[in-house]
Amino acid sequence: MPPITTSIFELLKIGPGPSSSHTIAPMKAGHDFMELARRLPEADRQRADALEIRLFGSLSATGEGHGTRRAIVSGLLGFLPDTCRPNVLEEFEKTEQSFQLDLGGPTLSYSPGEIILDAVRHDHPHSNTMIFTLRAGDDVLLARTYYSVGGGFLRREDEEEPERGQPAFPYKTMAELKQHLRRNSMRLHELILANETAVVGSTEAEINQGLDRIVEVMERAVELGIKSAGVLPGPIGLQRKAAIMYNRAKEEQYQGTGFLKAINAYALAASEENAAGHCVVTAPTCGAAGVIPAIVFMLKRHMGVPQDEIREGLLAACAIGFLCKHNASISGAEVGCQGEVGVASAMAAALLAYARGYRFQVTENAAEIAMEHHLGLTCDPVGGYVQIPCIERNAMGAVKAYNAYLIASTLDESYQKVDLDKAIEAMAQTGRDMSRKYKETSLGGLAQSMTEC
Ligand code: SF4
Repeated sequence: MPPITTSIFELLKIGPGPSSSHTIAPMKAGHDFMELARRLPEADRQRADALEIRLFGSLSATGEGHGTRRAIVSGLLGFLPDTCRPNVLEEFEKTEQSFQLDLGGPTLSYSPGEIILDAVRHDHPHSNTMIFTLRAGDDVLLARTYYSVGGGFLRREDEEEPERGQPAFPYKTMAELKQHLRRNSMRLHELILANETAVVGSTEAEINQGLDRIVEVMERAVELGIKSAGVLPGPIGLQRKAAIMYNRAKEEQYQGTGFLKAINAYALAASEENAAGHCVVTAPTCGAAGVIPAIVFMLKRHMGVPQDEIREGLLAACAIGFLCKHNASISGAEVGCQGEVGVASAMAAALLAYARGYRFQVTENAAEIAMEHHLGLTCDPVGGYVQIPCIERNAMGAVKAYNAYLIASTLDESYQKVDLDKAIEAMAQTGRDMSRKYKETSLGGLAQSMTEC
């Protein structure tokens, strides 16, 4: 197996929720297709009279609940996930509303409801496939097939993997990573920074700037969420809870259970923003976008941890996310929720330990404990909406991260019998053995017992 070459900003991405593979990647696909369409000869653009978009796999099965149609239309209209307004998708809620697509002069009328939810089972090489075709009568002017390959990553059928450099300190496992740290007397965040520079070519200043933007969007999601009330979009009619929890925490001056209520409130807040289709950070996915922001918010607002230590903690968290992605998965569709909220909780536990100044071993132990106690967690979103169990599950993941940090930082390191590599291996094996019903299909678990949704 090759060494890890995933970039920090492939793991932590900004974009609208509620599901990175159903909103972020489709939005990018819509944007890319229009860029290509505007490069067609003028005569072709003038005679274009129809756009056909077909969705396959889970994009078809749960795309309605996940807002895939509105994400694609926003992309067709020129919006991109990392620069769009936080609530941009709200403008595209009415499926029958028409929008004018700009073909570089000529325009074409199109509405979200025209997007076809095609076969859930199909023969395309990737489950989440999108086929875009621009026509003039029977003539095909432009056709492109896109794959949403998880975590907001988009691949075009004809696209080569981008060239990237080799990591300065290659590793595939935590054991190998630890060897580099010992041999080179390095700290974990320094190694992750050096690898990012070698693989992507970014400078340290650019990486820090990117991390600051990530923290800003995480904080914004929490701040918006704790101020918002009402019912989330969709047929479930789920009440927002973050503001209520936050107010209780404030009344208790964040003391005793008030502190726990605050962590819950922050995780609920960012998750409810995600469920509302507003912008969040995939950490490592949209579905798990409440866990790490809750811990970042708590570290900054309650513990006074400075920005540079938050950045270092995020880099340590990325090391955990990379290992999970490389050796198991961060996709609910592949391994269930242990790969989403489970990984987010492990990353958040590592972030907490590292930002609080603990040594590497406590950081690894905190991540392992958080991961271990999410093993076997299934993915069964009710009605295909990232709401039940997802939102409260983020609160549970954040509290478990805090508890894992407490256990790891209180007890002697020698008491730890399981290392992170073993926990990740167990997650991968459990994911392989898990029935397909429990992997983001809404065919099992709560999604089945809550049939009224
Ligand atoms: S149950 Fe977990 S993995 Fe599934 S959609 Fe919800 S947060 Fe994501």
